[in-house]
Amino acid sequence: MSEINSFPQTLTIAGTDSGGGAGIMADMKTMQECGAFSTAVIVAVTAQNTLGVQDFQALDPKLINEQFSSINGDFKIRACKTGMLADAEHVSIVVDNLKKYDFGPLVLDPVMIAKGGAQLLSDEGINTIKNDLVKLSELITPNIPEAERLADCEIKNKDDMLLAAKKIKEMGAKNVLIKGGHSESLEVNDLVLLDDESHFWMKSKRVDTIRTHGTGDTISSAIVSRLALGDDMKSAILYGKDFVEAAIKNTIQVGHGHGPLNHWA
Ligand code: PLP
Repeated sequence: MSEINSFPQTLTIAGTDSGGGAGIMADMKTMQECGAFSTAVIVAVTAQNTLGVQDFQALDPKLINEQFSSINGDFKIRACKTGMLADAEHVSIVVDNLKKYDFGPLVLDPVMIAKGGAQLLSDEGINTIKNDLVKLSELITPNIPEAERLADCEIKNKDDMLLAAKKIKEMGAKNVLIKGGHSESLEVNDLVLLDDESHFWMKSKRVDTIRTHGTGDTISSAIVSRLALGDDMKSAILYGKDFVEAAIKNTIQVGHGHGPLNHWA
């Protein structure tokens, strides 16, 4: 019989999506697909579908602390991620718990605004992420608008992207992945700036679809899973990129708006 807790285990600290396409739902599906067992600390609950976020509420801090304690008391988490954290108070609760427990390397997905325009993190929350959470992360995975907010600059081309990545790394993130999917160009360029200061680009052709709900959650969760399985950072990122690309190409016809990805491609 294999040892208790020898199976790769992950943790997602984020918000739910009642529509099933993003947030903790996308995280757990992705982690399962990638071969890891996933646990979850729910920070916020959203009322949401493919048309947008209709409402959300962050949970009572006591219940959040208790979820962290429950997970720590039973599992051996090898890698974790954060997603939607709602506001400064909740970012701080997460920071305190990540300092208290060892959940392995942290992938920070700095979720700010949903595709439909809903603000999933307050302005104060962005500052708390910049000041307190970024420095705990092994990898941060902003899209272009998020990188612009974090680095306080405008990104118009690849040079700007590299400059922003360097600024974000200076805030304390060990590795930086800036996802280029929000740029206007037909070719998507994702930038990776590694701990050793080297960088590389991951190019892909834009897929013509509005069904891209939860892409950020999916790539960060695939990376977390591979880290839990023992990959180095570069291999985990390359795996995550391939995984999300396949999922975008195989979207399914669910809902009337920004539908979910197909994780079963
Ligand atoms: N809802 C939750 C709970 C999320 O965590 C996220 C993204 O991380 C979203 C919605 C937004 O997803 P998208 O921008 O892909 O629509």
